[in-house]
Amino acid sequence: MRVLLFDIDGTLLVTDDGGKTALEAALADEFELSAVDVAISFAGRTDRSLLRELLERNRLDASEPNQTRLARRYSAYLPKILAQRGGEILPGVTELLEKIAAQDNFLCYVMTGNLRETATHKLNHFGLTRYFQGVYGGDHDSERDDLARRTAADLRDRHGEQQLGEVIVIGDTPQDIRCGHAIGARVVAVCTGSYGRSALEAEKPAAVLNDFADVTAIHDLLAAP
Ligand SMILES: [Mg+2]
Repeated sequence: MRVLLFDIDGTLLVTDDGGKTALEAALADEFELSAVDVAISFAGRTDRSLLRELLERNRLDASEPNQTRLARRYSAYLPKILAQRGGEILPGVTELLEKIAAQDNFLCYVMTGNLRETATHKLNHFGLTRYFQGVYGGDHDSERDDLARRTAADLRDRHGEQQLGEVIVIGDTPQDIRCGHAIGARVVAVCTGSYGRSALEAEKPAAVLNDFADVTAIHDLLAAP
């Protein structure tokens, strides 16, 4: 078996800032703020760290209960805002997932900084849910490396160490590459997010792709020993 761990935003799809817009609205409404400050970096982060920073930046107590309130409101708002914003599946993604699904030597999961529930909203919105055996989200970990370690441990429990084989992390940010290396995975980076080729190459992934448009070549890369 070969395990593929796909990031969502900038890797499988783009939401046209739908996630950020939903978080901004959730923060304003849940805490009755007339103006909110969301001028923080989002790419490659876990939602656990974003919830905390957004509360602090808006002079709110970043307690667990407040993080939970913000997360619940965000998740409640996201489906409607995704429907309004549109966004798109990135080139070649559906064809690549179809090709992988047709073979029984791949296990395909999502590993994302998104909360598990909001990741599921995004996959459902774009009709991608059926391609994945499950979602590992950024609910618990502020650091993406910890998310990757938690994911690797769960995969070993679920499938058994012998069955697992090689793990490949696929993502669009330096944080995706580093977290893959933290668990000894091969990493394939893609330039469809907010980072350019040189920033990704600096982290020394196994490959950097412009996008997934050349489905046959990318499938062969993922299947190669
Ligand atoms: Mg991403």
